Amino acid sequence: MNIAVIGAGIVGICTAYELAMDGHRVTVYEKSASIAEGASFANGGLLAPSLGAVISHPQWPSGALTSWRRLLQTARVGGGTRLEDLRWLITWSRRRSEQDFLAALAANHALLEASMVQLHDIVRRTGLSFDRSEGQLALFATARESERFAPKLKALKQLGVAFKNLSAQEARKLEPGLGAALPVHSAVQFPQDAVGNCRHFAQLLKEAAQAQGVVFCLGTNVQTIAPAAQPGIILETGATPLAFDRIVVCCGSDPSRFMRMAAPHCRRAVVHSQSLSLHLREPLNGPRSAVVDTASQVAIVRLGNRIRVSGGASLGRPMTTSDEQSFRPLYRALNTHFPGAANLREGVQAWTGSSLFIGDGLPLIGQTPLPGVLLNTGHGHNGWGMACGSARLLADLIGNKPTRLDPAAFNPLRFTRTA
Ligand SMILES: Cc1cc2nc3c(=O)[nH]c(=O)nc-3n(C[C@H](O)[C@H](O)[C@H](O)COP(=O)(O)OP(=O)(O)OC[C@H]3O[C@@H](n4cnc5c(N)ncnc54)[C@H](O)[C@@H]3O)c2cc1C
Repeated sequence: MNIAVIGAGIVGICTAYELAMDGHRVTVYEKSASIAEGASFANGGLLAPSLGAVISHPQWPSGALTSWRRLLQTARVGGGTRLEDLRWLITWSRRRSEQDFLAALAANHALLEASMVQLHDIVRRTGLSFDRSEGQLALFATARESERFAPKLKALKQLGVAFKNLSAQEARKLEPGLGAALPVHSAVQFPQDAVGNCRHFAQLLKEAAQAQGVVFCLGTNVQTIAPAAQPGIILETGATPLAFDRIVVCCGSDPSRFMRMAAPHCRRAVVHSQSLSLHLREPLNGPRSAVVDTASQVAIVRLGNRIRVSGGASLGRPMTTSDEQSFRPLYRALNTHFPGAANLREGVQAWTGSSLFIGDGLPLIGQTPLPGVLLNTGHGHNGWGMACGSARLLADLIGNKPTRLDPAAFNPLRFTRTA
């Protein structure tokens, strides 16, 4: 088939690669001058099949978010917030039954796990070598924090996730750079989780995709999709639709006009988060892999000879990189968790990125109501961890092949209203 992929973030690149591996003719359209310039640019790097990102799971039934105050702490609402974002926030925070919650958690978990398998497969096949490290440590400063986390562990245990409860001493042994003054009550280790440089991987996979015949049209903005029996795309530069057998929209947080067409009833929001990337000053003082502060949801990870600190969630206008105050929680977390590890004076990259979140916490992967138009988007804070698995699932759906995962949970048509 002749297939257009719109968007060259990590999801679009993985999608193009998998489609090309299945023998399709693939053209990728990306409005930026280079790839992985959106949310895939400097994300937290967590490949987290066990825990995923907490904000991606709407309302833990344990009552993690029982009041608006807590809710607003989790996703700060700033100027420029749209009605669409607020609707998502309400859907996202609505208390749901334990059964519904566990079903969504299980679906996300299965996708994250399948994605890790697919990533390893790609690495084995292509020999790609990118910055990565193994294991994730969730830290609790107090007994109360640890207790609040217990229902999540119970749910993960039900899903068969392997983890190890650690004492403060054991946690410090695993991550010897943790600051002596940092209060650590206990920790949980997720040995099968990993950290990887998303952008680096995307760049290498782009080359592998090109070797499979994928054509990249960079600096090419897709204006709209022309729905028809054979769908087409209309570029900013031309009025005549370019016809394809299939069009896959992988536009991350940027697809509002496509989403209005392809998933009109889906509750969604664009959530902005931040990261700091810093050079290691003293490697022994830095993290060995990933440490997540469960109270603040800040992740501190090792990426080769750099440290990346990521966190925050806000609706409305994104913070600018000159908004120093908004990066303060990240600096604070770095200085308390790994004091002296990073060079704070030179080469600090402060970055704000935006992710698309869906009301039920699950991405949209598959056919839309528009003939021949598919979505692969809405991965929230798990897009790197889910990219390879989502791409394989989408390629299997296009090829009418048996899928490793049950696609029903991710079906974009789940939001279609029946009259
Ligand atoms: C601070 C932060 C930390 C994060 N940490 C993690 C983490 O630790 N682990 C994890 O798994 N996930 C993490 N995420 C989420 C993850 O980064 C995203 O889910 C993922 O990058 C989404 O990839 P994508 O390809 O869908 O979107 P993007 O990377 O945003 O790519 C979409 C692309 O589509 C292009 N595009 C849009 N519209 C058009 C158009 N009309 N025509 C042509 N091109 C178009 C854009 O230019 C862009 O390049 C984090 C996100 C942020 C912001």
